[in-house]
Amino acid sequence: MQKILISGGNGFLGSHLCDKAINEGLSVTVVDDLSTSKEKQVPKDTHFIKKPVEKFDTKEKFDFVVHLAARPSPDDYTRNPLATIDSNDVGTRNMLEIAHRSNATFFYTSTSEVYGDPDVLPIPETYFGYVNPNGARSCYDESKRFSEALIKAYERQYGMDVRIERPFNVYGPRIREDGFYGRVIPRFIDQALRNKPITVYGDGKQTRSYLYFADWLEATWKFLKDPKAKGAVLNIGSNAEISVMSLAEKILNITKSRSRIAYLPPREEDPKRRAADISLARKILEWEPEVGLEEGLVKTIWWLREKNRL
Ligand code: UDP
Repeated sequence: MQKILISGGNGFLGSHLCDKAINEGLSVTVVDDLSTSKEKQVPKDTHFIKKPVEKFDTKEKFDFVVHLAARPSPDDYTRNPLATIDSNDVGTRNMLEIAHRSNATFFYTSTSEVYGDPDVLPIPETYFGYVNPNGARSCYDESKRFSEALIKAYERQYGMDVRIERPFNVYGPRIREDGFYGRVIPRFIDQALRNKPITVYGDGKQTRSYLYFADWLEATWKFLKDPKAKGAVLNIGSNAEISVMSLAEKILNITKSRSRIAYLPPREEDPKRRAADISLARKILEWEPEVGLEEGLVKTIWWLREKNRL
């Protein structure tokens, strides 16, 4: 039986990855400190270790080591900059050491934030980014960029099998909607379902491209397993760019909400535009996102409505 270690396996994406790994017949170990979780949601068949990844070590060996633990929500990470950096620098190093000792495939979920506020759209992997090294978002952007450098150093020095994914705004069931953890889609859906004001930062003209979790999961599994993907750095996302304002309108229409738009001050250093160039992932993984935004929103709205009885 192959063994996989997943840091952050209790999170939104991590818990879906655990389900997939179990279905594929792997033995799954999760290390997670539950620091950004509301509840435990790892499948019961996983071996669960409650610990921050930056304090984690083990003598056990694995076939795959996946480092997912991170604090990706801007309203959260800007309030917790040191914990954010810890999981990316020391956390990445710890997971790399375990992978190296195990002779495992090392898989890292980096971020589209490594591109900062890009002046090339859609963004290809060859774009080096436009990032403020000490700005409000630097605790996340720069530590993710550092992680990538660290991973490539292990690859160069030890010839390890490493794979770096840059996900672009993934959403869907199990994503948090509450407080500072809520990313824009679950937050707007929750506000719309409660007929509360939709909190648009700035003028709402800023854009993102969104990927439904099932498409992310398919790409990620292929990326983890496919021998052709060894050493690759790949954008996993969508190239369908949409403004925050249009996103709010879509959610209001689908939910038939009575919410009004409340304009709040812009977030500091909020990237103005973001959309993924996914040609490389298409080519290497023979993958194509299948769930359009409308369909993904309907499914996520359904899930949140059921979960919160709204
Ligand atoms: N956003 C917003 N209102 C909110 C939350 C987010 O207008 O309550 C905007 C935010 O300014 C950004 C986009 O939605 O331009 C995506 O934000 P999110 O927090 O989901 O993640 P990001 O892509 O910035 O990391």
